[in-house]
Amino acid sequence: MKETLQSFYKDAFAKIDKDLTEQQKFLIENPQKKISFEIPLVRSNGQLDVFKGFRVQHNNLNGPFKGGLRFSPNVTMEHCEVLASLMTLKTSLTGLPFGGGKGGVTCNPKKLSNKELSEVVDKLVNTIHTSIGSKIDIPAPDMGTNAEIMKMIFQSYSQTRGYSPGVVTGKPIHMSGLKGRNEATGKGAALIAKWTFEKHFDKIDTSKVSIQGFGNVGKFTAKFLSDMGAKIVAVSNSSKCLYNEKGIEIDKLLENLEKEQKNSLSQIDDLSIYGEHESSDKIFEISSNIFIPAATENTITDKTVKLLSADIIIEAANMPTTHLADKWLQTNNKILVPDILASAGGVIASYFEWSQNAQNEQWEKSEVYKKIEKKLSDTWSYVVNSKKKKNTYRETCYMIAIERLIKSMPLSYSESN
Ligand code: NAD
Repeated sequence: MKETLQSFYKDAFAKIDKDLTEQQKFLIENPQKKISFEIPLVRSNGQLDVFKGFRVQHNNLNGPFKGGLRFSPNVTMEHCEVLASLMTLKTSLTGLPFGGGKGGVTCNPKKLSNKELSEVVDKLVNTIHTSIGSKIDIPAPDMGTNAEIMKMIFQSYSQTRGYSPGVVTGKPIHMSGLKGRNEATGKGAALIAKWTFEKHFDKIDTSKVSIQGFGNVGKFTAKFLSDMGAKIVAVSNSSKCLYNEKGIEIDKLLENLEKEQKNSLSQIDDLSIYGEHESSDKIFEISSNIFIPAATENTITDKTVKLLSADIIIEAANMPTTHLADKWLQTNNKILVPDILASAGGVIASYFEWSQNAQNEQWEKSEVYKKIEKKLSDTWSYVVNSKKKKNTYRETCYMIAIERLIKSMPLSYSESN
């Protein structure tokens, strides 16, 4: 992942008209602070587990560090560094008053009892409470964390530092959360898919879409695109791909998941009523116009990219495409809208939650949707108007984000030695 990000930076630096100094490049590419710590936990069976914890504060030139907190046995400091850097680019591109951060704990929350989980969160907050806060660094949910965990952080932090709803975003609605936050990333990805398809091809209701990953982002992206009239021909998760060339009935599928309180495609007993199904990687072979990776990092590689028939790739996940695959798409005239724009709906919504908390208000969902759409559509128009024919969307988005960061740097950074 780190090499991929470095290559994307290198491509963008080479395209920016003016020469950047080494100090400027260094500050853009490297985190300002890396915090690492341990969380010991005596499990209910008496066993001692020691989890590793990380928080990377990448950049706060434009506002408090902002970014998710991931609970996963696979999370590493390097992961957090890359994802924190992407957050800086995302908030800069969208013009939000935030910087970038990311963190994680190497635990599997599904294997912890509620009591154990709450102890992990308390220890996490005790360790980093002086480094987070509504004007310092604002965590949010990411893979393995959710509104309940944000509630625990908010409550634990407030006990030592006083009532502070703005310390995290992604809280439950009744605990100063934002109506519409849960679906915001999927809504954003669906809007970007619509605008891109309609700019380059035809009306969205003539499109066929395949979506890799059917978690929070994938499900809502499918729902909003299906509501717009797009045909969702395939969805997948880590074990299964469900496909139907006539279009999957997304509303029915989501209702079924909700009614049976099931979280994943793999838990549905009779998937065949929605279409055919095979193993997960089949998703790359299904014929579609738009392919949306909404799962995890590095799924579009130099091998899988060659299987894709879609002309448009919308990166709803963070860093799903390797540099080699990105180059292949470019050479083959495919259009890719990068993560820092396509998955920005979530952090835009987080900004509105943070603003709502600062004003002690609660906005209606329709108002929140309008605000998210306006912010995203302004960003999209700016990208489209700035994009030169010879540059890709990724290069254009990186260039805009980097140029804004450079404008916020101290003047001394622009002097080369
Ligand atoms: P999630 O855990 O809710 O869902 C992930 C889904 O991807 C699951 O269906 C899982 O089975 C599937 N998956 C995992 N590995 C896979 C693989 N190799 N092939 C196919 N499917 C696979 O996570 P999420 O919140 O939906 O996040 C998805 C992506 O979007 C991540 O990259 C995340 O960083 C990014 N993202 C999320 C948000 C947000 O608000 N949730 C915001 C911005 C970016």
